[in-house]
Amino acid sequence: YRGIELLRDPSVNKGTAFTLKERQLLGIHGLLPPVVFSQQEQLQRVLANFRRCNTDLDKFIYLSSLQDRNEKLFYQLVSENIEEMAPIIYTPTVGLACQKYGFIFRKPRGLYITINDLGHVNEILSNWPESNVKAIVVTDGERILGLGDLGAFGMGIPVGKLSLYTAMGGVPPDQCLPVVLDVGTDNDALLDDPMYIGLRHKRVRGHKYDMLIEEFMEAVVKKYGQGTLVQFEDFANSNAFRLLAKYRNKYLTFNDDIQGTASVAVAGIIAAMRITKTKLSDHKFLFQGAGEASIGIADLLVMAMRSEGTSKEDAISKIWMVDSKGLLVKNRSSGGITHHKAVYAKEFQELKNLEEICEVIKPTAAIGAAAIKGAFTEKFIKTMGDNNETPIIFALSNPTSKAECSAEQAYRITEGRCIFASGSPFDPVEINGKVLHPGQGNNAYIFPGVALGAIVSGVHHVTDEMFLKASEALAEMVTESDLKEGRVYPPLHTVRDVSTKLATKIVEYAYKEQLAETYPEPENKEAFVRDYQYQSDYESFIPNTYPWPGMNE
Ligand code: NAP
Ligand code: MN
Repeated sequence: YRGIELLRDPSVNKGTAFTLKERQLLGIHGLLPPVVFSQQEQLQRVLANFRRCNTDLDKFIYLSSLQDRNEKLFYQLVSENIEEMAPIIYTPTVGLACQKYGFIFRKPRGLYITINDLGHVNEILSNWPESNVKAIVVTDGERILGLGDLGAFGMGIPVGKLSLYTAMGGVPPDQCLPVVLDVGTDNDALLDDPMYIGLRHKRVRGHKYDMLIEEFMEAVVKKYGQGTLVQFEDFANSNAFRLLAKYRNKYLTFNDDIQGTASVAVAGIIAAMRITKTKLSDHKFLFQGAGEASIGIADLLVMAMRSEGTSKEDAISKIWMVDSKGLLVKNRSSGGITHHKAVYAKEFQELKNLEEICEVIKPTAAIGAAAIKGAFTEKFIKTMGDNNETPIIFALSNPTSKAECSAEQAYRITEGRCIFASGSPFDPVEINGKVLHPGQGNNAYIFPGVALGAIVSGVHHVTDEMFLKASEALAEMVTESDLKEGRVYPPLHTVRDVSTKLATKIVEYAYKEQLAETYPEPENKEAFVRDYQYQSDYESFIPNTYPWPGMNE
């Protein structure tokens, strides 16, 4: 590498931080202003620029252009200011960015594979410039956050998630590949939008759709090997469950909306048990929503209760669900019970109103994941507070505009007694002079660490046991002083450390269970994980040399 290309390639460009010697040796002297800045000085400057942006969308655009210009500076900025940056590169702002993707589109990022490319997926994959991809996040854009079908605009999600793989997990950016499978969109507004960037027709479904996914999975393994992790993200409900079942024992894959969500939510619930001093099976859980998030959480909760010694039937009996048709009961007049839901359907009367359901069922924990804004009404929260000394209220729907209730509402109405967590971040709330910190049940506590552990240990499959291990490990990392402030998750700025520890747990587990394929087995698992992780500090371009006896040059 020499000359101007160095300044144009974001993976190596250091801008004004190239030293005088580097500039002269690399043929870029004079192409930069004379000043030489340190990375720290550059960091101060980009942080100030970031903060000067007026809107969150401007901040998003600023960060993506930094990522396109100087990758190490971008990752250092994000890693050192996680709490400030995560809501921009991920939920909630990424949701807005996806909705405006056509408008803010500048430089392409990620790979677009369309239904028209059936039979040619190998060729498209071979156009990707990196040869050592280890992690793929793929979406078909049908259920972006709680915002519905955004078609090819959904590219913002795999791009954002993989930025978190690097910033929070330390997976090197050149090993990450964001993919949109564009099969069309059923969003009429997008079909009419002149700025829309995807295929302009309704979604192709059925056999052709399945063939595209199948061809994609095969092509990935053919080009990058069986150890390539494929994370399914923001697929609509029926495809998400179906594809997970189809591929989980065939490929190295998981679905973050089902399994990652489950893991982070169960971690929060396990941590909450340290506040309530109860067992999971002492509780009655009410889910608003019976989709990917809720079913995923419920299934993992059952597993967690079983590891406490509760029987499967007992565990299932503690879990109640509400879907778009009301309380999930057997022999429901309107039908519509898929087999994932059927497990949790109860022998009970049909009820529709959520407030009434709460009064009748008397749950100790309420978990919202139906993307229905405001579903936890004042009355609902009050009932939770009247029936429980320490109610658990998780409003998980994303982005913030879809949350079941705000942190302020939950704390105020329960006089600060509830344990609250949400999907998108809320600011701390002061109640009677006490500052309470809502937990953010952000999947980013889980997927970067689990993915990292799976990649480095070389497991063939990502199992539910691994996600439960991750939940338990995450819950253990919550300190007593976190719990005192109401937090059921460690502060988000520690997430890099959290990921490293989770990955280490996964690696230890993988070797212990003889699932790991990376040999020889590393003695120090944590050092092994750290060694793999990407560093955002600039490297010197001056090669290291060493003398021979009697020969210095
Ligand atoms: P999904 O699979 O589409 O499920 C949505 C569920 O909501 C379905 O069961 C649906 O009922 C139900 N629903 C729809 N309208 C309802 C109503 N009026 N009352 C009660 N239930 C209703 O979606 P998902 O993947 O579970 O995601 C749901 C939400 O959770 C999204 O906002 C997403 O952003 C959020 N989420 C948060 C996290 C996190 O906090 N870490 C992670 C993942 C997802 P039917 O089954 O009858 O259609
Ligand atoms: Mn998602």
